[in-house]
Amino acid sequence: MKNIEWVDFLNKNLKKTKINNLYRYRKIIQYSSGRFLIYKNKKYINFSSNDYLGLGKSNKIVKAWKYGLDKYGLSTCSSCNVIGYHKIHKKLEKKISKWMNYDNALLFISGYYANQNIITTLMNKNDNIFADRLSHASLIESSIFSFANLKRFKHNDIDMLEKLLTNYSSGKKLVITEGIFSMDGDSPELEKMIEIVKNNNSWLFVDDAHGIGVTGNEGRGTCFEQRVKPDLLMISFSKAFGLSGAALLCNNNVYKYFLQFSKNLMYSTFMMPAQAFAIYKAISFIRKLDSLREKLRSNIEFFKQLINKYNIPFLNSNSCIQILILGKNELALRASNFLRKRGVYVQPIRPPSVPNLTSRLRIILTSEHSFEDIEKLIIALNIFINKKN
Ligand SMILES: *Cc1c(COP(=O)(O)O)cnc(C)c1O
Repeated sequence: MKNIEWVDFLNKNLKKTKINNLYRYRKIIQYSSGRFLIYKNKKYINFSSNDYLGLGKSNKIVKAWKYGLDKYGLSTCSSCNVIGYHKIHKKLEKKISKWMNYDNALLFISGYYANQNIITTLMNKNDNIFADRLSHASLIESSIFSFANLKRFKHNDIDMLEKLLTNYSSGKKLVITEGIFSMDGDSPELEKMIEIVKNNNSWLFVDDAHGIGVTGNEGRGTCFEQRVKPDLLMISFSKAFGLSGAALLCNNNVYKYFLQFSKNLMYSTFMMPAQAFAIYKAISFIRKLDSLREKLRSNIEFFKQLINKYNIPFLNSNSCIQILILGKNELALRASNFLRKRGVYVQPIRPPSVPNLTSRLRIILTSEHSFEDIEKLIIALNIFINKKN
């Protein structure tokens, strides 16, 4: 009897996603870089990779990881509170905090994992979380898991945030936002936000997974660019760095608190030392890449010129994430297939990654793309839009 219920549960939900055009087919990619990918033996211009500076295939970083493997071996086979914390981790923490001008940095094996840990370690039942309603799933989900009182404010709406903040006086208050929103490409006005946060005796937590390495002097990211220093700043090494792993930038008190109270740091095997070494080398490298960041900027400007010329209604974004909202799931799938037939790979984004009826194309520009690549994309997209009407 019980078995049948399980089968019903699985089949019912799988069928529902298929009927609603929400079924996700995982593709086997043979090769991908910032510019190209190969899928089913066909080469596409890749507009779906977060490898913003093309470092995912960087010889220097690959070499660093290999060197690290030879020097340190594979896993630490231990949590950082037992024997998993090595000299290279300490050196990496120092390097990150110096680069970003914070007291300290805590390492995590991924950004998703870092967000979960940061929020659930710091926030408890009687606390209040105020999160932008378009925040990444890892932020919203962990806010719910923390048992704190969760209030979501309208996307980038600082007035609404202020009203909410003034209404809650008991418990700790944490405001959560992103440097560059992953599914919209825009940024909050952080300077205005941090002032309101401070005035209300609250802390600001910024997830800058998409800004780090890409914007700001020496790639320090969105907060540095906007001249704010949030109390908590999460950076991921899985995007512009072309690697994997994450860090929380914080003051010494927070750092100490995590070493006592973070369950993830206590009970999960710590970052591979070779990976820490690769990140260590990648930081020196990425700081010097202002010319690639400039190339990326000119690609974004060229893209924006073209969408204006063809009058394609993209969301207003100055980042490498450019969004065309199409609405229905089926339409986003059709657009993506249409582009693929013309040699251009753009991932359609559907709920639950975005709100219902806002399915979209998410185009990611990198410094690797040429103007011709971008032109090819926009011309194909323009044909699709005119056909649709
Ligand atoms: C990608 C992403 C993460 C997760 O980072 P990983 O290192 O890939 O786990 C967290 N937050 C945002 C906003 C992201 O886009």
